Amino acid sequence: MPDCIFCKIASGDIKADIVYKSEKVVAFRDVNPQSPVHIVVIPVEHIEKPGDAKNSAVFAEIFDAINAIISTDASGTFRDGYRVVVNSGRAGGQTVWHLHFHLLAGRQMLWPPG
Ligand code: AMP
Repeated sequence: MPDCIFCKIASGDIKADIVYKSEKVVAFRDVNPQSPVHIVVIPVEHIEKPGDAKNSAVFAEIFDAINAIISTDASGTFRDGYRVVVNSGRAGGQTVWHLHFHLLAGRQMLWPPG
C-alpha cells in the first residue's frame, strides 16, 4: 500500500528499530513507547484491521513472532508478564491503518485500559 507507513517499514523504505523479521511478520520498537518495552508486530501483507484478514493464519504467524521475541529476550523484561493489544477502528484507538499488535512490558499494566 503506497501511503502506508508500516508497509514502508516492512519493505525497508522507512527505517525502524527492527527486533524481529520473517517472510510474513516484522516487529519493531514503537517510536512513542507506552512502557519500557513497546514493540509493534505487523504482518508484511497490508491488512487494515483484524476483520479484514482472509483467514486466521496471519494471527498464528503474529503470535509465533511474539513468542519468538519473548523467548529470545535476554533482559528478563517479559518474565513478570506483558500485555498484547490490538486497537481496531477509530473508537478502538487505531491510528495506523495496517493491522498491528502492541507488545508491552516492563511496568505494571492497569485495567481498565484508557
Ligand atoms: P495505533 O494507535 O494502535 O494505531 O498504534 C500505532 C502505533 O504506531 C503508535 O503506538 C505509534 O507510536 C506507532 N508508530 C507510528 N509510526 C511509527 C514509526 N515510524 N515507527 C515506530 N512506531 C510508529
